[in-house]
Amino acid sequence: MVQSVQPTESKLKSLAEMDSKHYLHPTTIPKKHADQGPKVIFSEGSGIHVKDVSGKRYIDGVSMLWNVNLGHGNKELAEAAQSQMSKLAFSSSFAGYSNEPAVHLAEKLSSLASGSLNSVFYTSGGSEANDTAYKLARFYWQLQDQPRKQKIIALKQAYHGVTIAAGTATHLTGFHKFGGTQFEDVFHATPHVTECEQGDKSHPSYKGCIRDIIESEGADTVAAVILEPVQGSGGVHLPPDGYMESVRDLCDEHNVLMIADEVITGFGRTGKMFGVDNWNVVPDLMCVAKGISSGYTQLGGVLLHDRIRNTIVQHDQMMAHGFTYSGHPASCAVALKNIEIIERDHIVDNVKAMETEMNKGLQYLEEKHHTVTKTRNIGLMGGFELYEDPATNKEFPFDLKAGLEVGEECFKRQLILRALGSADGKNVVAIAPPLIIQKQEVQDMINIMDEAITAFEKKHR
Ligand code: PMP
Repeated sequence: MVQSVQPTESKLKSLAEMDSKHYLHPTTIPKKHADQGPKVIFSEGSGIHVKDVSGKRYIDGVSMLWNVNLGHGNKELAEAAQSQMSKLAFSSSFAGYSNEPAVHLAEKLSSLASGSLNSVFYTSGGSEANDTAYKLARFYWQLQDQPRKQKIIALKQAYHGVTIAAGTATHLTGFHKFGGTQFEDVFHATPHVTECEQGDKSHPSYKGCIRDIIESEGADTVAAVILEPVQGSGGVHLPPDGYMESVRDLCDEHNVLMIADEVITGFGRTGKMFGVDNWNVVPDLMCVAKGISSGYTQLGGVLLHDRIRNTIVQHDQMMAHGFTYSGHPASCAVALKNIEIIERDHIVDNVKAMETEMNKGLQYLEEKHHTVTKTRNIGLMGGFELYEDPATNKEFPFDLKAGLEVGEECFKRQLILRALGSADGKNVVAIAPPLIIQKQEVQDMINIMDEAITAFEKKHR
């Protein structure tokens, strides 16, 4: 890690003061932030570690926002950005303009994705990718002479971003309160009941599943189903056996497009290059961001199935859509280097090997701690839940915010994890370290979680 000179106490104080006064942060309460200042100000990082401005070192157990997949301080990624910026800092991608890294990356993404996902539309991040996918789905049906196919079905507990369309598909209602009116024509289905999607109408969860919504709204009004292969911010929910395949079949049966939101699950996170590859499912549109560049530069995109691209091409229609930073050369150069490293260093194999270690560690925590239950993990995307009494499904009182408290206990011990679901009374602790993590480092994380949960349990005995 780069050795920096530590700022003096007064410099740290003024940095915190400037932050509380001038910097409005996502998902913080501005009043509280103004009163208390930032929780931490990071200054540098190396591998799975980050340091704050006072020199304290933390394990980044969630790859910051599930995105720093190759870890911090990767010189090759920094050099890829620097070298591209010195050569050509920016070029438009509108109206036929192009640039070398964007072209190479488009070709590379097509070769990585299974099936016929052979072209990409670039965005700056995940929300824009999801908004773009909705527009593409609707555009596709308009061109197919089915303009009534406008509705989008997302899953309950989904997180698809915060722009107005993606934000409506996000089912974490706290996000809906911000900014008022929601996008029209978005429905939320009960997630993860394979039997219902396979057509078992007698199943108790059938009402409100994807199949039920498609059939009751009318397939001629539904453009697409969007889902995360593994739900992330909604609480790390893995689909049960057969679910992803059933959704694919259901979409085919009803002539509805399937959009996979791979913003977290893409680029190795689940132990396959893409989340859908765990189930051999090929979506019609696949949204990527975050791990595409390991968070070193902003980038997202939508991969299109040939069927969709060809329809647009055949109809000789303009893509009246695009962002200034669609195909940003430096971002694309970083993404190319990122993918090169993932392949060269067999990162996905490391994820598989570390998955085993993580599973062992989570199992240990569940066996040792009476409040820990429902541990789950795929690749390096996992978590556990805290219940007052797992045996009787008794949850902790809402106000206790048990997940946040355990997260805080970890943070005190210099491990960054993420508590999810507290707004809905759920206490999920999410774990998603950089994909370069090694066996001893997984063990270090488990040891800290062990201590943190012990401290929490002692307090609430
Ligand atoms: N989809 C998923 C599955 C995500 O997890 C996120 C971000 N956490 C987004 C979309 C939104 O991405 P962004 O914040 O880059 O807009």
